[in-house]
Amino acid sequence: MSRAVPDPEREPHEPTLDGDADLARLVPAEELDDLVAAVERALGARLSIIDRTGRRLAGMPGPDGEPSRRTIMHDGLRLGELEATGAHAAEALDLAATALELVVHHANARDLAGGAHEQAMRLTFAELTEHNQRLSRAVARLEELDRLKSNFLATMSHELRTPLTSVIGYTEMMIEGLAGQVSDEQREYLTTILGKADQLLGLITSVLDVASLESGNLAVDRCALALGELVANEVATFAAQAGRRGIAINLDTRGETTVFGDRRKIRQVVSSLLSNAVKFTPDRGRVTVCVRPGPLSPHDGDCSPAIQLVVTDSGIGISRDQIAKIFEPFFQVDSSSTRAFGGTGLGLTLAKAYVEAHGGRIWVDTAPGKGSTFVATFPAVEARAG
Ligand code: ADP
Repeated sequence: MSRAVPDPEREPHEPTLDGDADLARLVPAEELDDLVAAVERALGARLSIIDRTGRRLAGMPGPDGEPSRRTIMHDGLRLGELEATGAHAAEALDLAATALELVVHHANARDLAGGAHEQAMRLTFAELTEHNQRLSRAVARLEELDRLKSNFLATMSHELRTPLTSVIGYTEMMIEGLAGQVSDEQREYLTTILGKADQLLGLITSVLDVASLESGNLAVDRCALALGELVANEVATFAAQAGRRGIAINLDTRGETTVFGDRRKIRQVVSSLLSNAVKFTPDRGRVTVCVRPGPLSPHDGDCSPAIQLVVTDSGIGISRDQIAKIFEPFFQVDSSSTRAFGGTGLGLTLAKAYVEAHGGRIWVDTAPGKGSTFVATFPAVEARAG
């Protein structure tokens, strides 16, 4: 930015601009040349522009006699001299002085605006760079925390499984009477312990699977299996629990339903969808399960042959903004401590990962109060062979 800085060496009545703001730097040479040419053309005089150090910036000295002079001032500062010769020298000086004042004024304004813009840009760039550095540090920290969390989940799940397997083994031996006679009441208690320990083992296995998912180590153990049969077995497991709440589960199996997959993982997908359907449906509601051949992913236009598992309920449904989140780990629509429904928020995360590990898709069609239809698809065996 140009500033007027008084030079203590100079006469006090002869102020000057600092080096940054002299006439040659302020106004481009072509503009000074144009100005001189225009004035000379208009008045037939000879005109020169000279800076404050005596250097001629535009125009040529006239051939005839001593020139008339005029000091070029701007904001009370001396910028240089105008020299004119010829019959209309005085008018040429008037015209040139007025024109030059305007040109200098504009040039000064341009200079100021340019300086301010440059400074603003420099500030913004510095801010952006600092912001970016802060973001990069935060991302690195989050990645590190995420890695630590996955390691923690994997280690803890493993360490919890080992003693739990012993609890289950010893309980089974006691039920079988290997540690001596047990009464009916003791057997009943032991059976409850066994059931709860199995449930706990299932939960720990889920957490371990989520940790494997995050480290990208999900192993799929495939064999040919009849999905219809597997689903029928799971429906039978849930029938009693649903029946106690007056919920009927209808099963409809159509056509050939063989898939090439991991029995444990597919059973878990079926069990998660069924357990959610029953859990989120009010008493005396309806749950329908259908297993049938159909397209793999009709929404994406992928109609390769697949087996579809369709679980429909007449339950509470899910709002549009929650749909994408329900497949995220540990997410529950109602996560309050007073929530009405139990669960870990891992069922659908694992279901999606397992289905996709088989090359299938999972999606939901739902609306609050209107029930939900979850569809999981698995590539049909013929498609794999072809
Ligand atoms: P959870 O163990 O909590 O059931 P999930 O991952 O299986 O965990 O489901 C995540 C959340 O998605 C549930 O807590 C519930 O809010 C919602 N949800 C899943 N299935 C249904 C359904 N059939 N009807 C309504 N909400 C559902």
